[in-house]
Amino acid sequence: MGVLDLFWLDGKAAIVTGCGRGLGQGICAALAEAGADIFGSGRSPRADQTGDLVKTAGRKFEYLSADLASPEAAPRIFEGALRAFGHVDIVVNNAGTIKRNDSVDFTEADWDEVIAVNLKTLFFMCQAAARQFIKQGTGGKIINIASMLSFQGGIRVPSYTASKGGVRTLTMLMANEWAKHGINANAIAPGYMATDNTEALRADKERSAAILDRIPAGRWGTPGDLAGAAVFLASAAADYINGYTIAVDGGWLAR
Ligand code: NAP
Repeated sequence: MGVLDLFWLDGKAAIVTGCGRGLGQGICAALAEAGADIFGSGRSPRADQTGDLVKTAGRKFEYLSADLASPEAAPRIFEGALRAFGHVDIVVNNAGTIKRNDSVDFTEADWDEVIAVNLKTLFFMCQAAARQFIKQGTGGKIINIASMLSFQGGIRVPSYTASKGGVRTLTMLMANEWAKHGINANAIAPGYMATDNTEALRADKERSAAILDRIPAGRWGTPGDLAGAAVFLASAAADYINGYTIAVDGGWLAR
């Protein structure tokens, strides 16, 4: 078997949260192109565009609408995925939310919602994944979507920074506990990507120009920029990578 064969995901089933748009949609398209069937989830009632991309790649797509702020979401998603495909091999915790306000004015509601979606449910999704991988005896891949704010403080996004800092170190903890089961827990830290999540930043001419000026690659990232890292971490090519957060940031952190 050649090295490139390690990257194929044929026969694998992947759960991807926040699959309907932005980075999650790009990740679904990439995993499907590499051979995986996709069980997608998000808040919206449907995710037809993503479904079309997955089916065009010749793979199966099932979708469940679930609010990841609720503790019921993780068990419902796993039940749905197991009903659809009978097994789960890859879990991508991509869904995330952000609230912007000065820290002196930040509300408890904006704190709780972001922490619930980005950190609490992410942990219980990982726990459900690990339990399923151990039960299957197959090992498996967990990919959490972190951020530049897993490494930096940011500004006016206190709950987001706390959640994404937590995602990075929690991913390390899970790797420490679960690597022995053949489970790889890793994360991807996207840089500044042109999606709905950064719409407010891109609409602010001054902030947008300052950000662009600081990105060595000289452009905002796109959902397609995550394809390589997502397929890599989901594949056997990454079997000995544990607890690491890969930045896909056009050089932002190097600066
Ligand atoms: P986006 O375009 O705003 O999409 C967010 C996704 O998360 C949507 O699919 C949304 O589902 C889902 N979601 C949000 N809250 C949810 C909830 N309560 N329950 C279920 N689903 C929920 O964001 P994105 O830019 O693609 O971001 C994806 C991930 O990358 C996030 O974790 C984000 O923090 C991270 N990230 C993004 C950037 C960037 O520059 N864009 C940089 C670093 C990290 P619906 O579509 O159904 O609403």
